[in-house]
Formats: sequence, C-alpha cells, structure tokens
Amino acid sequence: MKLTVLGCSGGIGSGRHTTSLLVDDDVLIDAGSGLTTLDFEQLLKIDHVFLTHAHLDHVLGLPLLLDSVGDLRGTPVTVHALPEVLQVLATHLFNWHLWPDFRVIPSAESPWLRFEPLDFGQTFTLAGRSFRPLPANHVVPACGLHLSTAAGSLVFSGDTTHSDAFVAALNAIPDLRHLIIETSFENERADVARASRHHWPDSLAAELGMLSVGPEIWITHLKPGNEVAIMEELREAASGWGVEALIQGQVIEL
Ligand SMILES: [Zn+2]
Ligand SMILES: [Zn+2]
Repeated sequence: MKLTVLGCSGGIGSGRHTTSLLVDDDVLIDAGSGLTTLDFEQLLKIDHVFLTHAHLDHVLGLPLLLDSVGDLRGTPVTVHALPEVLQVLATHLFNWHLWPDFRVIPSAESPWLRFEPLDFGQTFTLAGRSFRPLPANHVVPACGLHLSTAAGSLVFSGDTTHSDAFVAALNAIPDLRHLIIETSFENERADVARASRHHWPDSLAAELGMLSVGPEIWITHLKPGNEVAIMEELREAASGWGVEALIQGQVIEL
C-alpha cells in the first residue's frame, strides 16, 4: 500500500493544502484542498472516500470532485463515514442549496455518489487493504482510521485532542508502523486547542507517553505560520520519539 500526502496543513496559503491522503490510486482519506493537486486522470480513479469528520477543511474538495468526474464514471464514488458525519453532509452540503444531492443524480438507481455508514467495530476491506474507524475526541463526531495490510498497519488520527480510547486502540495494534497524528497549536495556544479539541505539543507528548507500541510519528494539521514553532516544542516535549512533520507530497509505503 502506498499513501501519498496531498494536503496536511491546518490551513491554506503559499502552497499549503488542507487534509487529504491518497491510498494507492483509488482511495482517498479526507477531501480537503489537497485533493485539488491531483490531475483529472487521477481524480477519475478515486472510487472510495473515507472521511474522518465533516469539518470543511476535510470535505471541501468532495462536492467539486463529484461535479468534475461524476458524468464520466460508470460507477458512483462511495463515501464512508460515521453515520453522524453522513447526516451532516446530507443536511448541510448535498442539500440542493449549497450543492446538488448527487445521491440522486442522474437518478437514484444510478447515482454519482453513494453513502456507506462506517460504524465503530466494523472493518471495510478493499483488495487486501482494511480500513477501520478508531475513536477520536473532537468538537464534532469524528474518528481516526486504522489502515492495515499484510505488511503492517498505519493509523491516521484525524482531528482530535487526547483520547484514552484512541490510546487504547493504538496499543492494541502490535504491527503499528506509522502514526500520523495532529498537533494544531503551539503550547501557548493550549486554551484554543482545548476549546477546539486539538492537540498542542505538551498534550501530544503526554499521549505518546501512554503508548506501548513504537510507530514512526508523523505530525499533521500544523497551523500555517506556526509550523516551525510547534515542531520545535514537540521535539523538546516528545524527545526520544523522533517526531517529524508530515510533508505535502510525501509517500509512505506499507
Ligand atoms: Zn476538525
Ligand atoms: Zn481539520
């Protein structure tokens, strides 16, 4: 399995794109502005989209993706997400006001878009790759994702602050090789991070200290302009972990 980072910033500006990860060439994890870096042929190959939550920085590319490729595909794009997330998309995005409901375009029998509820405890398997939601702790219903192949496991936290359930889930994955986890704010903005349920360096270091597994740690969702400061604080707070910032364009092979 090959995971390509299309976008991993907590914002936009100067080449930064928001969260979107491509798995091989047919599965997308989150549909932030990073999705717009793909060319048209690549967009056409996306059959499945897993969403960690409904916040705009993680879904904004989805309506435009469907509008771009829907008519040329023979099959719908399937969106996998927690039922609460799918409900938000139906009510607030694909609601005929903000964007058409592609679940009934061109017809309900042959649509461009399908919703597939992804519940905790379920695993969705696609050609030797499995996808499983993990509990997260964000201001809206949200999950992380556990990607697994015969070669090992990778977990993406999505947006989250500390979660005992997430830590327990990680510790139950003995072949965990890579952990992509967010840290959005520097320590002096811990109040903002708490209120918006994101990590800051000290909270992430505490979380890593609870792990009994030893994955490579990749930091994502750094707020624009504060990337260097956050990473400096993280390297100090979580010394020994070798934390690295995830980079747009980076490829992780599993
Ligand atoms: Zn969010
Ligand atoms: Zn976000």
